[in-house]
Amino acid sequence: MLNLHVVEARFGDCFVLEYGSGASPRYLLIDGGPGEVYGPYLKPLLEAIKSRGGALDAAVVSHVDDDHIHGLLDLLTDLQWQRVREKPEVIAIGELWHNTFSETVGSDVQRQFSQFLDRTGPMRALLGQSSLMSRDIAQGDELTRAARTLGVPVNSRFGQPSTITVDRLPRPIVLENLRLHIIGPSQASLEALRTEWLAWLAAQEEQVPAEPVEGVARALRRADASVPNLSSIMFLAQADGHSVLFTGDGRSDHILQGLTQAKLLDADGKCHVDVLKLPHHGSKYNTSPELFQRVTADRYLISASGKHGHPHKDTLRWIVEAAHEEGRQVEILATNWTSSLHGLLESHDPQTYGYQLTVMPEDAHDTVLKLTPENAPSCPFRLCRHG
Ligand SMILES: [Zn+2]
Repeated sequence: MLNLHVVEARFGDCFVLEYGSGASPRYLLIDGGPGEVYGPYLKPLLEAIKSRGGALDAAVVSHVDDDHIHGLLDLLTDLQWQRVREKPEVIAIGELWHNTFSETVGSDVQRQFSQFLDRTGPMRALLGQSSLMSRDIAQGDELTRAARTLGVPVNSRFGQPSTITVDRLPRPIVLENLRLHIIGPSQASLEALRTEWLAWLAAQEEQVPAEPVEGVARALRRADASVPNLSSIMFLAQADGHSVLFTGDGRSDHILQGLTQAKLLDADGKCHVDVLKLPHHGSKYNTSPELFQRVTADRYLISASGKHGHPHKDTLRWIVEAAHEEGRQVEILATNWTSSLHGLLESHDPQTYGYQLTVMPEDAHDTVLKLTPENAPSCPFRLCRHG
């Protein structure tokens, strides 16, 4: 069995993958969305899973951005509260998988970065929105601490150093019938990111006193967007002949590199999946026509609300045009209506281009994509003809 529960995660990501057998389903949580997602949307789904006797084999944090990590932190806070008061717990979590900022980009970058912020003095307040400054990284550290308090092992199956990268995990992680092929981040992309950051910080040594405050703030915002995003854990989940590609907030060239490194591309340098979760909520800076020509899917999943212009109209156009060129019928599944989706319907007629657009109903907490037929192929009570 392979089902994907898509949680209404506003402008972030939150998914629950269901695998195992119909009689004994297993679950993996991928990201927890931003604030206001756990209470109204994720918690009811986890409670429903628990009421059926389910638990989370693992919770995965793709990267330490608020729109991915906040809901997970809310879940662990809830669990801590329930543990202290000896109340029934929302759900059991087997493991936490998470790349810390200092492990991925390097503690020297983190140290130099805080020294840089110390030097900026009064500008610090202006940079309060910078996730690199503290908030998201602190949330990442807080998440690790909360997991340890609850006795949830963090990356324990990966050995030391425990960073999750395509280089360190060349073989798939096996959970029952589920195979997880890590495709990102790679050591090379993390190293490039680290070098870029050290160079940027070195340049600031000279510039900080002279550069206008807004210039530095702008550069930081740009770095904010790139550093955690580009260290996103990305993986291909496969079970019973079906697959979902999770891309976090990664970038198209890194996705293609990772798929190549994990030997998941065919002789033409292509691969096909059932569901492609669009990177970075469908930002045009994280996708490309080449991505959609080489990684094809039956369904393109977009978790976005229109915030930051996500999904971008060019991304939507590239998906539809790549599929149309090959005569593939595809479905675009979005968690919320956005102006770019309305625009796509106007510029690219679904009938002519051969695509279907499905948007989650406004009052839905989540929706489930059933990738395997009911009771097949792992139903223990009847002979299955598949696999
Ligand atoms: Zn995001």
